[in-house]
Amino acid sequence: MNLNYIEPIYLARYLEVMRDRLPSQFLISRSVKVDFNKDPSLPELWGLHDDAMKSLRERIERVSSMHDLSPPAASSLLDLKVTIANMMLENCNFCERRCGADRKHKKTGYCKIDAVSRYSAEFLHQGEEPELVPSHTIFFTGCNFRCVYCQNWDISQSPRSGTPILSQELARIITLRREYGSRNVNFVTPTPHTHTILKILNALKVNVPVVWNTNMYYSKEVAELLEGVVDVYLGDMRYGNDDCAKKYSDVPDYWNVVMRNFMTAYTGGEILLRQLVLPGHLDCCTAPIVKWVKENIPNVRFNLMFQYRPTYRAYEHPEINRSLMPVEVQKALDIVREAGLEDVLI
Ligand code: SF4
Repeated sequence: MNLNYIEPIYLARYLEVMRDRLPSQFLISRSVKVDFNKDPSLPELWGLHDDAMKSLRERIERVSSMHDLSPPAASSLLDLKVTIANMMLENCNFCERRCGADRKHKKTGYCKIDAVSRYSAEFLHQGEEPELVPSHTIFFTGCNFRCVYCQNWDISQSPRSGTPILSQELARIITLRREYGSRNVNFVTPTPHTHTILKILNALKVNVPVVWNTNMYYSKEVAELLEGVVDVYLGDMRYGNDDCAKKYSDVPDYWNVVMRNFMTAYTGGEILLRQLVLPGHLDCCTAPIVKWVKENIPNVRFNLMFQYRPTYRAYEHPEINRSLMPVEVQKALDIVREAGLEDVLI
């Protein structure tokens, strides 16, 4: 979409963090003290997490400048989140596929990613939404979706490719990128790498907004871990029904999971919502998505995207093996305008 940049009216807290006037949520989590012993059960840890999250929410409300940020606790809520994610890895339910794979011991589930996270590239991205650029974008390898038209299929379907991540090293790179002008750190396809990203953030000393660049198909448990860590959910809302999601991305129960996670993100962070318009899918996908957003989460930055190209295995589906027609672009714009989603920048 051709955008004429205007100062956004949403993502207000993000902009304050970006300008170093407010701390990122992960820094506040690191200031919340939580005592836990070294050999706890997962249910015990979740109990502690629930209690600590109440303190965190109060603290986020109270913090009105960087000066209000307390020093890191010796044993913190962020430490607790890292510990929980690490335990979840033994019976993986990071996303709603809930494979139960013991990734800690080299087993893999649907995404074929073991305990080691890898990235294929990291750089200051100039092609994201205007509010985000330059965005320090880190592309993880592997994915829990199988989109037949994936533009990054060489990365998403090759989980063993890329550079293995050392959390301290990536924290150092994020710090350098921030010093060179990044507005945020943008984790792409992050869900299967939740354990690694939490560790990276726990090693990070610099204030930087955290962007979770996601298909929104994470589990309820991961949603709880992300609250108090993620500043902006850069979330795809791709399909308006389960049949299209199953057919083109091999994803079950898409609508319920993704809508639930958007609702949770709406209360715990800020949302930049992307709707990639698919050819021939305006009535079944774009229209119901726009309607749902308007009725349920109207105060989001909504980005209608027209860059669909038939790549990868799109040729197997003749109905989407083409680019969008101008009439479809116009119709999608009309759908959004008629719904009154006012923050579409056109
Ligand atoms: S991240 Fe999702 S797809 Fe991958 S092993 Fe865990 S539950 Fe399965």
